[in-house]
Amino acid sequence: MNIQFSGQRALVTGAGKGIGREICLELHRCGAKIVAVSRTPGDLESLKKEIGCDTIAADLADAAQAQAAAQKAVALPGGVDLLVNNAGISIPQTFMETGADAFDKTMAVNVRSAMIFAQVFARHAIDTGKAKSRRCAIVNLSSQASKASLADHAAYCASKGALDMLSAVMALELGKHQIRVNCVNPTVTLTPMGEMAWGDPAKSGPMLAKIPLGRFAYPKDVAHAVAYLLSDKADMIHGATLPIDGGFLST
Ligand code: NAP
Repeated sequence: MNIQFSGQRALVTGAGKGIGREICLELHRCGAKIVAVSRTPGDLESLKKEIGCDTIAADLADAAQAQAAAQKAVALPGGVDLLVNNAGISIPQTFMETGADAFDKTMAVNVRSAMIFAQVFARHAIDTGKAKSRRCAIVNLSSQASKASLADHAAYCASKGALDMLSAVMALELGKHQIRVNCVNPTVTLTPMGEMAWGDPAKSGPMLAKIPLGRFAYPKDVAHAVAYLLSDKADMIHGATLPIDGGFLST
């Protein structure tokens, strides 16, 4: 199977590190132009050196900055054909200790920014006629945490459950415009976030024991699935939540 995005531009949020960065590299390998949105300017500069992408620095916890960044991306010459809502945060706290600020920030980045980017992208795809090409697609970075309760992840689990359902409504309403929308739902993935949340062997051991394939995911495992779902090879896949979890959710 040869996945090709020649002549298309992909907008990727949270592109500076981890899964988002790997997605940019993979889509670039498949011929896409990339517009990378992230928070730390140094990460964007090094990515630009590596793949020659457009970059936009913004804090997506702020709705106005998210809106402005999305508008700036779709205004690039040639516009945007593909969207990956990857930016996400995790602030591990027990349910009883979950603070309102941490909850609000988690929802703002993990859910609200995805909504804003998808609204701007869909409006752009419809208004420019790009959507009619049937090559416009959105992938949202959800998690196994949308479907399985994880201790110390109350806000995170709630945000990913909300993202799955937001994506389902997007699929329902954007399908008639021929804009496909899907989620990927990885298990623990070996990135800075994965290390922060699961670096303690006392936490990672029991989680690993529940994964039939016996390993955590690599960023490339996720990037390959995202590239497939964005591509014309997944033309009839719409409204799906795809586990990338070595079987965790099937147990
Ligand atoms: P990561 O290693 O922490 O990288 C996240 C990237 O997103 C960073 O470049 C970060 O920039 C950026 N970002 C975070 N908050 C932002 C904000 N407010 N505005 C702009 N950019 C922001 O995370 P990851 O592990 O690659 O996770 C990527 C996605 O996969 C997330 O949605 C996460 O929930 C999901 N996921 C991760 C795992 C896992 O175990 N790693 C498992 C399942 C799902 P800065 O570093 O500059 O803040």
